[in-house]
Parts: sequence; structure tokens; C-alpha cells
Amino acid sequence: MKKAVIKIIVIIIFFGGAYQLINKKGSDSNKAEQAKPNFIVIMADDLGYGDVGFNGSTEIPTPNIDRIAANGIKFTNGYTSYSVCSPSRAGFITGRYQQRFGYERNIQYRPNDPNMGLPQTEKTIPEVLGQVGYKSRIIGKWHLGAHISNHPINRGFTSFFGHLGGGHKYFPEELTIKDSYSFSDEPMSYKTWIMKDHTPIEIKNYLTDEFSDNAVSFIDKTQKDPFFLFVSYNAPHTPLQDTEKYLSRFEHIKDPKRRTYAAMVSAVDDGVGKILDQLEAKGLNENTLVFFLSDNGGPEHANSSDNGLLREGKGSIYEGGNRIPFAMQWPGELSPMVYDYPVSALDLMATFADLADAPLAEDRPLDGVNIIPYLKGKKKGSPHSTLYIRKFDGDFYSVRDGDLKLVTKENNSVKELYNLSEDISEENDIAELYPQELIRLDSLRQKWDAELIDPIFLGLMHTERYIQKRLNNKKRK
Ligand code: CA
Repeated sequence: MKKAVIKIIVIIIFFGGAYQLINKKGSDSNKAEQAKPNFIVIMADDLGYGDVGFNGSTEIPTPNIDRIAANGIKFTNGYTSYSVCSPSRAGFITGRYQQRFGYERNIQYRPNDPNMGLPQTEKTIPEVLGQVGYKSRIIGKWHLGAHISNHPINRGFTSFFGHLGGGHKYFPEELTIKDSYSFSDEPMSYKTWIMKDHTPIEIKNYLTDEFSDNAVSFIDKTQKDPFFLFVSYNAPHTPLQDTEKYLSRFEHIKDPKRRTYAAMVSAVDDGVGKILDQLEAKGLNENTLVFFLSDNGGPEHANSSDNGLLREGKGSIYEGGNRIPFAMQWPGELSPMVYDYPVSALDLMATFADLADAPLAEDRPLDGVNIIPYLKGKKKGSPHSTLYIRKFDGDFYSVRDGDLKLVTKENNSVKELYNLSEDISEENDIAELYPQELIRLDSLRQKWDAELIDPIFLGLMHTERYIQKRLNNKKRK
């Protein structure tokens, strides 16, 4: 009798425990489902390292962009994977060094050429997140191929509001070409109507404001599903155009070119403020990661940007080329801090895929890593031991390993070495002092280089129009 009672009690305890366990697992997975974070990437175009408040600019106040850095992480060593627009974006959107798949030049605007753009073999962030229920929108500049097969909607985004080419005019009255597929020419692509998914539409306002307002309305309408929003401002890329509303803030800047540039940055900053306000108003702030970065360094002569202490700018393998303003926030999870280890735009795919629990293609290993465990202090040390650039045209390389940076030029006949922790401006070549380090970094370079392929398409610099422009510039000099 006693034994039977004990048996019954044991059975009750066992099933009760099992029930609780199942129940707990059930509620945890529900919680995990509800808690999938949202992702917003705000990318400026050709913004200088020194042109945001959080990197020290007093000439151009950016109180809203600074909010991200103040509420979250300010990265002092944030990089993109290339120093011009299109390849940098190919790296960001795939999480892989774009030279692995031959994307090493700024693309030509060719709606008739399916090979002029992101190869179909590569997976994009919205494609990966789409597998686990994310809705994705890109607003603004695409620049990853003008052929229909590479339209954002055909590369994983659920909606699009923007332009296919590498830049755009900002005033609605200058957008005179309705059909984005009716020509093959980069400068003409700056004048197309804006596309809403596949439909050309006429806009009424200054382009940067249109993009900001569209981002606000997307956040308003997308609350049931987790989302990925890529706000890809073409500002402050040329042409330098702005309205009195923003220009009037910069009467203290006398140079008209710099003044217009500052006003364009200010318009982006207003947009960032609207986006952050909307997240707060909708109660989404705590569980949304917001990244802010530029796609490459500022081309100081072209748009009057300022890379601060960094050497050179857009297009360069020195720090001004691809060290960029970089900040992020995730208020529900991360405490504010300054983070000095190098991070890369390549890390965004890995971070998002991990947090969303989205499967990745095994045959396409990422070069980026999930940076959140590092920011939470769960993983120590640097997320990247080494970061690389190769510029096939011109035969340039850079290798950043720890604080050391190798630069090679002219078929490796010129090799320079810098210590970035002491020499952010890359002024003191220490190659002769550390010959062993030079050899070590150069062997890392060669090993990485062996994993890459040659470019698979010709670039903007190979078009007749640009060759002629270069010749004219030479004549003038
Ligand atoms: Ca750019």
C-alpha cells in the first residue's frame, strides 16, 4: 500500500515537472518570437569622418545623429569594406568581402545588362531575414545594379522607395525622366522619377525630406512583423543642392560649397531625428537596433566634406577612404559606451542573422561577425584580428592588423607601415623599423588575396564619358 502511494506521488511529481518544463519552453519560445528585434540601417553617402558632432564637428551640428552615439555605441574605428559607393554597399548587404565575388568597381548604369550588379549567387540581408518573417524596405539609393533582375524587390526587399543609380538630383522639378530603364548612362540616372516598388512616381518635396518621411510612415505601418529598414540617403553625395530651410542654419560658413554640404548633412540629421522620434512614439525604441554610418569616406574636394585627421578620402586606401562615422543603439540591451576595436559594415549581416535566428548559406561564409557579444562584454578582444582592402585597378592593398596597417602600391614595389594607435593620420612610415612586421602583414595580404577573384564587370571609370572627363582634367592641369 505504502509503495503504491509513493509510486503515485513520484508519477505526479514527474509529470508535473515535465508539464512545467513543456510549459516553460512554450512560453520561452513565444517570448523569443515576440522579441525578435527590428533593424534599421541609416547610411549616408560620402559623409566625412569629421562631419558629425559625435566625431567632434562643431561647424555642422548633428544633434540627432549624435543621439544614436549617446544612447548607444560610438565606434571610433568603424570601417566599410571599400572606399567607393557601389562595392562598399555590396560588402555591407552580403556581409562578405565583395572581391570574393568580383564586385570591385563602381558599377555602370546599365538596365540592359544583368551582369552589371550584385551576382545572383550572393545572398542579401533582406533575403536572409525574409526567411524568418522579416519585412524589409530600402529607401533611397540602391546602386547594386539597374537591371530588373537586381531591382531591390528581386533581391529580398518587400518594398522600395528610391532610385536605382549611384546618386540623384534633390529638387523634384529636376527629375524629368519617368522610365528608369529607358537609357544607359550614369548622369542621366540622376534625373529619374523615384520608384515606389516598380512604379515611377512624382515627388513634391526636397529628396532627403521625402526619404525621411517615407521611413517614418514605414515604421508607422510595420508593427506586427519584425522589420529591416535600410534608409539609404544619397546625401550628402553630389550634386550639392539644398533648400533655404537648411541653408539658413549655416550663415556662419562663408564658403558656399561647404555651406551647401553642411545644409545637406543637416537635412539628413533632421531625418534621423524623425526616425528616432517615431520609434519612441510607437514603443519600438527598446527593441530596435539602429545603425548609422557612411558608405565611404568624404571626397573632400568634390563635396567639401571633412575627414578630420584622417589621411585622404573617398577612393583611397588610407584611413580617409573607409574609416567612417559609425554609431549604433539598442537601448533595451546595450549600455552607452565608446568602442575602440575595429568593426566593419560587413558585421551587420552577421549580427542581424544571429539575432533573428536566420539561417545562412553554408557555401557563402561571412567575413563579418556578430558584434553584440563583444559590446556586451561576453566576448573579449577584437571582433576582427585583420581587415583588408584591395583595389584591383591601380593595384592597391591595405591590411589593418591590430594597430598596425600595411599599405602596398605599384605592384607591391611600395610598402608602407603605420601604427594607427599613435599615428591616426598615417604620417610616419615605420616600415624600415619593423621589417618582420612588414613581412608578416604582407603574407596575410597574399593569403587573403588568393581567396579573391578578378573583377567581373568594367566600372564607371571605364565609360567613354569618364575617360574623356579625366583627359580634360589632365589637359586643364
Ligand atoms: Ca558613397
